[in-house]
Amino acid sequence: MKTTNTDNSVLIGAHMSVAGGLHTAFERADRVGCTAMQIFTKNSNQWNDPDLTPEDIEKYREAENKSKVRIVVSHDSYLINLCGATKELLQKSRRAFVKEIQRCQSLGIKYVVFHPGAHTTLDRTEGLRLVAESINRAHDETAGSEVVTLIETTAGQGTTVGTSFAEIAEMISMIRDTRRVGVCIDTCHIFAAGYDIRTETGFNRTMEEFESLIGFSMLHAVHFNDAKKPLNSHVDRHEHIGKGEIGRKAFGFFMNDRRFATVPKILETPKGEDGYKMDIENPRLLRSLVKKENRGRK
Ligand SMILES: [Zn+2]
Ligand SMILES: [Zn+2]
Repeated sequence: MKTTNTDNSVLIGAHMSVAGGLHTAFERADRVGCTAMQIFTKNSNQWNDPDLTPEDIEKYREAENKSKVRIVVSHDSYLINLCGATKELLQKSRRAFVKEIQRCQSLGIKYVVFHPGAHTTLDRTEGLRLVAESINRAHDETAGSEVVTLIETTAGQGTTVGTSFAEIAEMISMIRDTRRVGVCIDTCHIFAAGYDIRTETGFNRTMEEFESLIGFSMLHAVHFNDAKKPLNSHVDRHEHIGKGEIGRKAFGFFMNDRRFATVPKILETPKGEDGYKMDIENPRLLRSLVKKENRGRK
């Protein structure tokens, strides 16, 4: 059977630009055959937080209705640090995180992926506690919202937290409303953090650890990225699928694992000079790794 991007039994896609308005992301996603996509609901490298106008929301909803994209996840701003060591940074981050959840609520986006933060001058335990407190506060301030916040696994660069499943489990254990929190596994990040998923034994061991510490019921998104840097490098550099240190075999383990079957799979690989060509190639390669007996399976 030939697998093409029109086969929408798998929720797969890429991070899409919102240049020209949030609604324009759907056109870009449709052009490359995405069934899932990730967007920034604002400029990810700036603090300014312009409010969405009713017109922005209407345009977005209209574009979504016409699109083949079945699930959208948002990624919050890179500046947000939910365990910021200074009062100013922490307050700014918490405010921006709440605004992100509110924007997602008004757009009908169910999941917000975020990096928990970097503890810098604080100790790690205090960092984890602060992140959980920030999440609890955000949930309280957006009570009644259906938006679920997803902690992304991190590569462990510098003093970032969330670099092991144990740390993520620890943060979750301090969150009061666990229905509003979940996890996003980033393949590049877990590999950079030391999880060797290149062999079947290593992959299985990693997933057993995930299941026992966090649980697959908490997994609502996966970022599929190969890694430019070796295992345990703690460096977050994404590469195209099969072209990096992880290699295509590992992605086959994910694509054939029933526990990942209905989880949205999002690529965050470089766009390159030829535009979106790789956003067609990478999903095509991933789909081709699904064994015949597992195709169309739910
Ligand atoms: Zn991320
Ligand atoms: Zn990611």
